[in-house]
Amino acid sequence: MPSAERFAALQTIQRRKPVPVAPPAPLADTWASDVFSLDTMKEALPRSVFKSIQKTIRDGGKLDPAIADTVAAAMKDWATANGALYYAHVFYPLTNLTAEKHDGFIVPKADGRAITEFTGKLLVQGEPDGSSFPNGGLRSTFEARGYTAWDVTSPAWLMRTPNGVTLCIPTVFVSWTGEALDKKTPLLRSNAAVNAQAQRLLRLLGETEVARISSSCGAEQEYFLVDNAFMALRPDLQLAGRSLFGAPPAKGQQFDDHYFGAIPERVQVFMQDVEEQLYRLGVPAKTRHNEVAPGQFEIAPVYEAANVATDHQQLIMTVLKATAKRHGMTCLLHEKPFAGVNGSGKHVNWSIGNSTQGNLLDPGTTPHANLQFLLFCGAVIRGVHQFGPLLRAVIATASNDHRLGANEAPPAIISVYLGSQLEDVFNQIKAGELKRSASGGVMQLGVDSLPEFPKDAGDRNRTSPFAFTGNRFEFRAVGSGQSVAGPLVALNTILADSLGWIADQLEGRLAKGDSLSDASFAVLQQITREHGAVIFGGDGYSSAWHEQAVQERGLENLRTSADALPVLQRDAVRELFSRHQVLSPVELQSRFEVYAEQYCLAIEVEARLVVRLARTVIFPAVSAYLAELAASIQEQESIGLQPSKALAQQIGGLNQQLLDGAAALEAALGAAPHGAEAHMRHCADTLMARMAEVRAAADSLETLVDDAAWPLPTYQEMLFVR
Ligand code: ADP
Ligand code: MG
Repeated sequence: MPSAERFAALQTIQRRKPVPVAPPAPLADTWASDVFSLDTMKEALPRSVFKSIQKTIRDGGKLDPAIADTVAAAMKDWATANGALYYAHVFYPLTNLTAEKHDGFIVPKADGRAITEFTGKLLVQGEPDGSSFPNGGLRSTFEARGYTAWDVTSPAWLMRTPNGVTLCIPTVFVSWTGEALDKKTPLLRSNAAVNAQAQRLLRLLGETEVARISSSCGAEQEYFLVDNAFMALRPDLQLAGRSLFGAPPAKGQQFDDHYFGAIPERVQVFMQDVEEQLYRLGVPAKTRHNEVAPGQFEIAPVYEAANVATDHQQLIMTVLKATAKRHGMTCLLHEKPFAGVNGSGKHVNWSIGNSTQGNLLDPGTTPHANLQFLLFCGAVIRGVHQFGPLLRAVIATASNDHRLGANEAPPAIISVYLGSQLEDVFNQIKAGELKRSASGGVMQLGVDSLPEFPKDAGDRNRTSPFAFTGNRFEFRAVGSGQSVAGPLVALNTILADSLGWIADQLEGRLAKGDSLSDASFAVLQQITREHGAVIFGGDGYSSAWHEQAVQERGLENLRTSADALPVLQRDAVRELFSRHQVLSPVELQSRFEVYAEQYCLAIEVEARLVVRLARTVIFPAVSAYLAELAASIQEQESIGLQPSKALAQQIGGLNQQLLDGAAALEAALGAAPHGAEAHMRHCADTLMARMAEVRAAADSLETLVDDAAWPLPTYQEMLFVR
């Protein structure tokens, strides 16, 4: 029998019905209906103005100030016709969140009237008081000026909430001195860097008139849903996003029966609600299914231009959270809400190309004969080998650390999985002779009524942090709660750098009279010889790999964020970002400081919660039960029985351990050293270890104490009851 509070929660949940939502409207009516899209603009703007803005969007240029007023007026008319009274410059500070500053369209007039107005200047530029956003020393609070500026390449949209409609304008956020205070600015810069270097290489390969190259991203979002009746009894889930206590349930995910299983009704209704909103916002949500863990789900949109996909990712997270609330649930985007149960990631599928060239990472059926593909793929391999630790650093958060390296998520060692066909091609290059592409062949199903279907030339590998999946790379180690901007910035920049290096090499060899194919082969061979160590097709979870990767291949295993974040301070990384004008040294340093601080804050909040819950929730509950036990023992003895005292003694001992552990943790919390790196080490080594000790005592107690006395909803309840 659960405790009274838990029982009440269970009853509440039992009575819940799926929240009624309207049946899905035809896609043609809803699709992008809340987006100030090119189509909307075409209708709303004079032809010349439309042509101008269309070109700006295509070429990634600046909005012509001469047309800004016209665009702003049309945007306002469209927004107010749809019920908007406010507009917001939306920006992406160095936290993983989305920030908004709302302003009314209203302008009071001298004669006492008020009109709505929205000028080009207000559209293009805003000035939120940015002093309270983390900036890593880029600005002190007394010079808090921060500016937002519309990123024309990402369309404006309407956000509908129960409190009304707001026109949202996606913007960059920069300081008065022009430094990037956000995640969008470097992403746009990294796209420009990829374009510049890809253009160089493509010209050497004989292409002329190449349209702008840019990166694409399709991000698969995993999340958990927990009923709000349980959330109310779980301060740890509320404040830290993960359970800091909780014994493993008798039934976990051993049966893998949740994965791709039937989606529970309440969740299906929730998903439909989410998708409907996303369609209106022009977010192409496509895939939905259960994930591995009970209570875990996934949503994936079709890939888009990286910049738009990044804004859409933020929208997806916002919509998931807000909609879950309306359905009586909480959407947890934490990477590891439940210990011992699979965590959540966000697989970032990434490629580069353009409308005329197509996808530059598409190998075709005979990759060995596709020089362009081999050079672009070779560039990725070289980049990941040189900057693997950077890729580890851009996914380093306190929460993602719980996932990386556990036996269900990619290891913290960054390697590249190519699949058997490509691995074979690169092995041939290394050996000096490139002859063939192994084919996948045809799959024989042994059932006459089923069609034969062609096999992919390479299998998948779930244990790889960075895998080639047919025509793109999939960065699988990204955390579920993260903005995808940071990982995309790193990927684009290391690719730009390697493409630039390849172009340099080719130019040198061509100048000496080499043929293009000889020169390219030589460069590819050099890449396989110098950087082939990063290619790994085996089991990334095995301890043999961890040993081999580090000892024989020289790859780094940066287990925690405290190990990984200092990579941002390395000379090679600083030079990389400076060389391609993606982040200045000061901007990079500020990121190190902000991320280090957030890491420490996250762990310290958890530690304080552990102390508080251990002392004020678990200890009293256990003590009360212990008193009952002791009384029962006395009573039994009074009638001449000889009851065992072992259980009471065990519980008493553990309860004391709990209290002592909390005291030790509190002492450690007060002993944080100065300096970002030392502080991170203290959190990673000391606080995490002390928290684990308190938790171990509590989780043992959970399995010994009367269920009716246990105050916190159990794993079994939270994971299985919906
Ligand atoms: P998985 O089998 O990995 O779950 P999905 O079909 O769910 O694959 O797709 C993963 C994501 O990869 C989707 O968002 C999809 O649009 C995206 N994707 C497909 N092709 C590309 C590409 N060329 N570049 C970037 N992303 C892509
Ligand atoms: Mg995937």
